Amino acid sequence: MATTAQASQASKPIVSANGGGSPPNPFEIAQRQLDEAAAVLKLDPAIHELLRWPIRELHVTLPVKMDDGTTKIFHGFRVQYNDARGPTKGGIRFHPQETIDTVRALAAWMTWKTAVVDIPLGGGKGGIVCNPKEMSNGELERLSRAYIRQVGRILGLEKDVPAPDVYTTPQIMAWMADEFSFLKGYNEFGVITGKPLALGGSAGRNDATARGGIFTLREAAKVLNFPIKGAPMAVQGFGNAGQYAALLGEELLGCKLVAASDSRGGVYNPAGIDPHALIQHKEKTGSVIGYPGTKEISNEELLELDVPVLIPAALENVITAGNAGRIKARIVAELANGPTTPEADKILHERGVYVIPDFLCNAGGVTVSYFEMVQNAYDYYWDVEMVHERLDKKMTAAFHTVHQAAQQHGVHNRLAAYLVAVSRVAEAVQLRGWV
Ligand code: NAD
Repeated sequence: MATTAQASQASKPIVSANGGGSPPNPFEIAQRQLDEAAAVLKLDPAIHELLRWPIRELHVTLPVKMDDGTTKIFHGFRVQYNDARGPTKGGIRFHPQETIDTVRALAAWMTWKTAVVDIPLGGGKGGIVCNPKEMSNGELERLSRAYIRQVGRILGLEKDVPAPDVYTTPQIMAWMADEFSFLKGYNEFGVITGKPLALGGSAGRNDATARGGIFTLREAAKVLNFPIKGAPMAVQGFGNAGQYAALLGEELLGCKLVAASDSRGGVYNPAGIDPHALIQHKEKTGSVIGYPGTKEISNEELLELDVPVLIPAALENVITAGNAGRIKARIVAELANGPTTPEADKILHERGVYVIPDFLCNAGGVTVSYFEMVQNAYDYYWDVEMVHERLDKKMTAAFHTVHQAAQQHGVHNRLAAYLVAVSRVAEAVQLRGWV
């Protein structure tokens, strides 16, 4: 296991995964966001330094037999960022552009996310560099099992509990839970969340990220006195989180979907798009593109549409200093992780755009994952109404804590969310006597 001992190298600049060019290194962004919070909190320098780095990380190399008889070597990571408040928790991504710094950033954000919604967990993340779109089911299963055979040694109910993320599914979680159970010699399904219901998954997990985000959008509209019913909404990234956001935005708040996009581009109709029909169209054709009655737009154009509710639900760094001045939304609800750069945050704040920051807005997923862990531990399962009610309570409380911190300190919402989360993690670090 490679344990990072990076505190001593803290002043070293981080080399960007792409050699320093654009796009920005997400881990560098995560560290800068923490630095800003540490300055406002006047955080103890040793605690600050500790929180700038992952506590532990594992790099693995995975040989996998492919369908054509060859063996392909894949690279994967698991980062356990901070476990002061409880076992680390965070998804596993399968992505061709995955890098250790992306995983580190996401693990840091998981640490702040579990703290901001006040669940007794730390933050972690995993990833495998691969293109699942070009792999068969059999190849994906062998890759998933190979990952657990290597990473399983640092996982466990009391240590680190993964979940699905970009391009990983409940089926992949089921293979991983199965492989882990074989390693242990008994069933320990609670080691992974986001499993299918038949293997101890939680009711309400599928749409939990989006539902939690929609609850925070509802609360934002309340504090802003913004008429959310009938408000046009644009969703960038029409995947798991984005599709449910479109459905629930309409069902729970009466918003009107007018634009949506995926990796191939976007569609726009100011008169409204039926999210159910758009999902069916994407399932049939593989993309939102070509949906009847819509105009084709680019992902960049979608972000700058004159719509009051913008939901980035794709990848990192899409709202930057370059386009933040042209964002016309009143509320940006960040379901994606890291969609806004620190420079863009300031511009949006100055222009009065109300941002619900990623690790608050998309914390519904990890909150219901935590509910899944609790249900697995008791082997007693809740109905979906109870999951929704408890999720609503957690998200609403977290939203108002962050909103009040923003008012109190006169800072933008992301910094406010950091102030809440970092002080909770710092308190745990201090109480445990680490610093
Ligand atoms: P997903 O794989 O289901 O969907 C991602 C979508 O984004 C796909 O429709 C894809 O076509 C689209 N996309 C990819 N590249 C794009 C690009 N350059 N421009 C526009 N669209 C693009 O993934 P997901 O689970 O919905 O996750 C989306 C985001 O939400 C990620 O940032 C993820 O980390 C975050 N998130 C997801 C969850 C969850 O529970 N699913 C929880 C927390 C955060």
